Amino acid sequence: MPLVVAIDGPSGSGKSSTARGVASRLGLDFLDTGAMYRAVTWLALHLGVDRTDTDAVAALVSGATFDISVDPRSPRIAINGHDVTRAIREPEVSAAVSSVATNLAVREHLVAEQQRMIRAAERGIVAEGRDITTVVAPDADVRVLLVADPAARVARRQAELGGEVDQAAVTDQVIRRDRDDSTVARFTEAAPGVTVIDSTEQSLAQVIEAICALAP
Ligand code: C5P
Repeated sequence: MPLVVAIDGPSGSGKSSTARGVASRLGLDFLDTGAMYRAVTWLALHLGVDRTDTDAVAALVSGATFDISVDPRSPRIAINGHDVTRAIREPEVSAAVSSVATNLAVREHLVAEQQRMIRAAERGIVAEGRDITTVVAPDADVRVLLVADPAARVARRQAELGGEVDQAAVTDQVIRRDRDDSTVARFTEAAPGVTVIDSTEQSLAQVIEAICALAP
């Protein structure tokens, strides 16, 4: 059976860079599930669909087609033929994504799509998100919850967004998304069998190494 590595963590925990690094190192595919929630959010904004209208957003996601590159060196995502790889990182998408991610019909649809992609990954896959270790792939060979102190997460988010962004604004975003996402996943404790790795004091290379060492 191909290797499946599941990594969960809050915003700014470094899970995307870590998951890509683990996938490259082990020769596996890479799936960023957050990008799928972001793509649906982008589509709702693009089409002017009211995100609080749960039925309208559910209809949107059930008719959507995704085209996702699972190459860890060049992850890309398109929805309904629009390449949104860059657009989904815009602040308006980040600010709106939690409201789409709490729509249960959206979650059901995306979880099924993610499970299909994991099953189809012939060379194995690293999937990262909020509910991979618990809902999407609870039987994964390696299950990791990546955590970091809020201050470290704010600093990383700020570095990702470019040095000149305001620290207070980034702090607000990280804290707000923790709160908005708290119905999706509470990161106070890991599910049974999940290894917790605290990246606050560790380099990216050290965290990648620690996860690779868990692989059978
Ligand atoms: O990982 P990232 O921060 O890009 O995820 C964006 C948002 O997508 C999260 O804030 C969360 O609301 C949602 N998400 C989710 N379940 C996942 C992955 C992401 O609800 N598995």
